[in-house]
Amino acid sequence: CGIVAYVGPKDAAPILLEGLQRLEYRGYDSAGVVVSNKGLKMRKVKGRVADLAAAMPARFKGGLGIGHTRWATHGAPSDVNAHPHLSADERIAVVHNGIIENADELRAKLEADGVVFLSETDTEVLAHLIARTVKEADSLEEAVRAALKRIVGTYGIAVLDAERPGEVVVARNGSPIVLGIGEKEMFAASDVAALVRYTRQVVHLEDGEIAVLKADGFTTFASDARETAKEPLTVDWEA
Ligand code: GLU
Repeated sequence: CGIVAYVGPKDAAPILLEGLQRLEYRGYDSAGVVVSNKGLKMRKVKGRVADLAAAMPARFKGGLGIGHTRWATHGAPSDVNAHPHLSADERIAVVHNGIIENADELRAKLEADGVVFLSETDTEVLAHLIARTVKEADSLEEAVRAALKRIVGTYGIAVLDAERPGEVVVARNGSPIVLGIGEKEMFAASDVAALVRYTRQVVHLEDGEIAVLKADGFTTFASDARETAKEPLTVDWEA
């Protein structure tokens, strides 16, 4: 349903919670965040963003993170089915909007290979697929692209790799993702409403595009892995 991502010098968690709150008008059944700080630290709950905020420990430090509000399509609303979803080695974290139509088939294949699933969601297959390719890939974006090639369906996603603590990868196909450009910090969200408190400079991803966000900027790629040139737009918004 809703996605927010942050990479920069500040603590990500308060920015993610604030952004998720701005997406509340869309409706959702659960919420969660993960930050990277010498490993991934995650909290997710069934309920409101306020319930998530109340469940957060006082110290939840890390300048890289992704957050999600979920509108369940595969698996009941619950703490476990809330996003983010992690790979078994807790290296990869994924938040996802949309529906993976071939999730059952991919899940059966992964389970036959010994992968243990924690949730009933379609999304969790992505975390496991990315974790399998990231070990051999030259970049997180390459691993995400390889995983997405196996997916049939719609997605807006944000992905963290615990071993790459300076970047977030986002991608879209049929579910919006917008990048927000700050001063030595970068944002992404499924809706510009989550970003306008922090920046007015935005870039809309096209279907099939993947973007790599770092504190000092972003790079976008078409589905054939070629870099694309994107001009930021200035949004006019009464915050
Ligand atoms: N299909 C995913 C799920 O059920 C994502 C739903 C959403 O867009 O929030 O967990």
